[in-house]
Amino acid sequence: MTLAPPERYADLDHAATTRLRPEALEAMTPFLGPRYGNPSGTHLLARDAVRAVDDARERIAGHLGCEPGELVFTSGGTEADNHAISGGLPPRPGVPLCSAVEHHAVLDTVLALGGRVIDVDDRGRVDLAHLAALLDELGTEVSVVSVMAANNETGVIGDLDAVAEVVRAHEPDVPRTPVHTDAVQAAPWLDLRTAVAAADLVSVSAHKLGGPKGVGALVVRHGVTVAPLLHGGGQERARRSGTPDVAGIVGFAAALDATVESRVDDVRRVAALRDRLAAGLLAAVPGLVLTVLDREGEAGSGEGSGVLPGICHVCIPDVDSESLLFLAEGDGVYAAAASSCASGAQQSSHVLRAIGVDASLADGALRLSLGWDSSDDDVDLALEVLPAAVERVRSFG
Ligand code: PLP
Repeated sequence: MTLAPPERYADLDHAATTRLRPEALEAMTPFLGPRYGNPSGTHLLARDAVRAVDDARERIAGHLGCEPGELVFTSGGTEADNHAISGGLPPRPGVPLCSAVEHHAVLDTVLALGGRVIDVDDRGRVDLAHLAALLDELGTEVSVVSVMAANNETGVIGDLDAVAEVVRAHEPDVPRTPVHTDAVQAAPWLDLRTAVAAADLVSVSAHKLGGPKGVGALVVRHGVTVAPLLHGGGQERARRSGTPDVAGIVGFAAALDATVESRVDDVRRVAALRDRLAAGLLAAVPGLVLTVLDREGEAGSGEGSGVLPGICHVCIPDVDSESLLFLAEGDGVYAAAASSCASGAQQSSHVLRAIGVDASLADGALRLSLGWDSSDDDVDLALEVLPAAVERVRSFG
């Protein structure tokens, strides 16, 4: 049975996933049909698959500003993060560090390996003094420093250059401490060549930018050693065993091509939609707080705001987000309270805690996220539905 959405609905949960871009679907289709070869073989069908994967690798590497040989295809952002932090199997010795606002794919891996968490400021940007203090304390024991390129709940863009500078300044040590960045949320919006230039390890995921789910990549810059996380047939130059998802990789490349091609226009258009949504909610919902967007300035400034164009994070006093999301869904508006998690259960957000949002305010957190196919109609419906839903939740008392 399909749970089909109603005729009129607004997907304001693009940070969770996006619709497949038509270019990706078109590019993938032959590889789900007649071009089904396994690139590990030697015959014609296999060589056809090798060629397709090589071509996709070259295009993706070009967009990311790395060599094709520095790209390791993975099953998505989670695997890339786990691989980067652990350093593979066996894990890289030492203590991993990450910021307090990382996605669980990073944070939980760091904690599982006995790592330490770097404080952040009230927008979620790394406290560079705390990072320096941890590097002073742990010295050569630090195995990796991981700071995300942009946050998946608030959309705040990190200062990776500054983080890398602090790490490099602490480094008479050889081999040097790798800097990792989770660029999964940044990839649909920002030119990742800057992140790739600053970091040693970079994670990306196709399904956040109009590609298929279950495929992503870890950029491993030359000179950085990682052991394989998955051992087996030696695919991906023995860095990631397992038969590659050829159709997925081809779709990833096509989606990234399309993303890069329309990026300037998409950023401008979606930032304007997001700013209209933020300003509209601020005007219509008494007490609503824009969590990281400035009240006047950033509704309007979009690209220069230090926040991804697609994300509008708000906190609504005297409302619990679960009830609000339930009512909004009934009227066709789909959003999220925090980041998506496997159980679908609402957990309190470690990100909001880390940036000092009051717990009672955080109970009414709402992440509204737009994507490449968002439209004025989505914002119109959200502005129609959400203020009324807040009023109803508040009336329950
Ligand atoms: N990192 C961030 C910042 C994310 O937002 C996500 C997905 O929500 C992931 C990692 C995990 O990526 P994937 O869903 O491809 O495993």
